[in-house]
Amino acid sequence: MFHKPCALIKTSFGCPYNCQFCFCREITDGKYFARAVEDVINELEAIKEEEIYIVDDDFLYDADRVVAFIAAIRERNIKKRFLVYGRADFIVENEGLLKEFKDCGLQAVIVGIESIRSKDLDDYRKGTTKQINEKCIEILKSMDIELYATLIIPLDFSKKDFKELTAWLKALEVRFVNLQPLTPLPGTDIFDMYLPELLIRREDYHLWDMAHIALKPKHMSISEFYLQLLTSYYKVIMRPKHMAALIKKYGIRANIKMLIGSSFVSWQYLQKIWRGK
Ligand code: SF4
Repeated sequence: MFHKPCALIKTSFGCPYNCQFCFCREITDGKYFARAVEDVINELEAIKEEEIYIVDDDFLYDADRVVAFIAAIRERNIKKRFLVYGRADFIVENEGLLKEFKDCGLQAVIVGIESIRSKDLDDYRKGTTKQINEKCIEILKSMDIELYATLIIPLDFSKKDFKELTAWLKALEVRFVNLQPLTPLPGTDIFDMYLPELLIRREDYHLWDMAHIALKPKHMSISEFYLQLLTSYYKVIMRPKHMAALIKKYGIRANIKMLIGSSFVSWQYLQKIWRGK
């Protein structure tokens, strides 16, 4: 949306962490490989687009590598704007480095906030806490680095949980959020655990998009769960002061595009609410 036209680059493969729900590390059989910074910089120099989406599962992993990346960008005078994936704990532990990266073009970070419930973060083996997530959000906000927050919604969420999550996101002024119902993807540690409870068949590939409900909600109907997801989403993103700030930062055209995009998603959710599956 705000990174167009955008070129993609992959500088590492796999992820060294071991989050219970995540398929990323399964693809490389638990192994992590990182390209040499020199090699990455050579590729970057050959890309004409200014907007660069680094599609590593976690670009902000090795602080020394990020330091070397920033140094090489400066040395070669590369002027790009970056969107990356990163973990909240890295951002909290490397605030100074983030500032330097911001000065060299870092625009936005996609962060797996995952949950505000400690039990969920422990169950997911995320290795972060609610406090770390809060600090991370504050740091990114203070540096005007856009945060795209992703959260997993377990199927035992009650209306009260949705309410608390929405209030927390609003209080921290999160502007972009992706709320994904917990999906036990094949290959992950939670797949076998949830296998008897799965509502969708393996061969229905289009339903494994982490936007469909794959498990039965505990405290409400499927329609109600979708409705709660949609309501929380709109309560977080559609705040007049956020809209005004986004128009100021990105212009009216980009925001209209975003609204059109989100209304398509909303339409899909309304259909799901209607169908109840
Ligand atoms: S959720 Fe993120 S940090 Fe955890 S294993 Fe997946 S890519 Fe790595």
